[in-house]
Amino acid sequence: MSLPSRHALVPFVSVENMMRLVLHIGPERMMVELAQTIEDDFRRWPEFDKTPRVASHSDIGVIELMPTSDGRHYGFKYVNGHPANTRQGLQTVTAFGLLADVATGYPILLSEMTVLTALRTAATSAMAAKWLAPRDARVMAIIGNGAQAEFQALAIKALCNIDEVRLFDIDTAATRKCVANLAGRGLRVVACATAEDAILGAQIITTCTADKQYATILTDNMVGGGVHINAVGGDCPGKTELHRDILIRAGIFVEYPPQTRVEGEIQQLDPDHPVTELWQVIAGEAPGRTDAAQVTLFDSVGFAIEDFSALRYLHQALPGTDFYQELDMIADPDDPRDLFGMLCRAEASAKVA
Ligand code: NAD
Repeated sequence: MSLPSRHALVPFVSVENMMRLVLHIGPERMMVELAQTIEDDFRRWPEFDKTPRVASHSDIGVIELMPTSDGRHYGFKYVNGHPANTRQGLQTVTAFGLLADVATGYPILLSEMTVLTALRTAATSAMAAKWLAPRDARVMAIIGNGAQAEFQALAIKALCNIDEVRLFDIDTAATRKCVANLAGRGLRVVACATAEDAILGAQIITTCTADKQYATILTDNMVGGGVHINAVGGDCPGKTELHRDILIRAGIFVEYPPQTRVEGEIQQLDPDHPVTELWQVIAGEAPGRTDAAQVTLFDSVGFAIEDFSALRYLHQALPGTDFYQELDMIADPDDPRDLFGMLCRAEASAKVA
């Protein structure tokens, strides 16, 4: 089954329908399937048009456009990052995105992407951990227990068989919220009083804090050998989470170096410091973890191909469901060159009525 037959009607997934879809599929299964779709697209990385995202910075946040194309489809996401928003009851990160047909340039899907970004970010972290973390990892820590946290926990549980998650946030209310949301989901959930306590015994550490500064969520002496770190929160210039010494001794894996060098943890390093592109590990072109004692770091900033994969997944999931509405957002005159005539006919029928 395919999406709307009138080619000018664009399927639109609202927040309400996205939530219905996620609950219908199940959050963990959906993140496993998203990770598989992202992995498939990472394997064909050279087919994509790639550019660092276009960012408009202000003192308190950033608004970004994230485009890419595989030659068949074109996708972009609009996303913001405003760490102080939560003080006004607004979210740090919100997003929407669009998928288009390259052959005609017509949009084929418009979607909310605030929930979808949390799902795809967690799916990408879990995919990285699947390739890089020690195989026997059973305990993870999450520092920063805000909007992304539960998604991160459940994706890593689903892809890496984690059975314990240890939580820390400077705001205990965020940790309490996270403990309550994760109850009954098959994880042992431990609320911790410090970051040091949270990472005790954890083989996978996810930092997911929001603060527009060079923060030091983890220092070098806190991180033992054989650990995998997903650094998710440092994702724009002047916003990092890890002490530089951790980076110096870690094997560093990134999405798209021209973007990560500006936005990621590695903005603290020399511009030629060696890093491995994660897609190369997945495609078998570069080694992942090289020994059991190595510290591996996925310096996640979020790249356009992950959003493209998420939109592609969504587009395939919709036919035959009622998880979308049809939007009349593309003008569709009977004669394609008679755009003004369409107005004239509308004017005439308004007069008759
Ligand atoms: P959020 O504001 O909902 O949560 C952030 C949490 O971090 C808050 O609970 C805050 O109290 C906590 N925090 C701040 N400083 C801390 C510290 N020093 N120690 C412990 N906790 C601390 O934000 P969110 O939506 O969960 O996003 C978290 C971060 O992830 C943001 O910086 C966002 O930009 C980033 N992000 C990255 C990607 C990606 O693809 N890499 C995708 C989405 C979001």
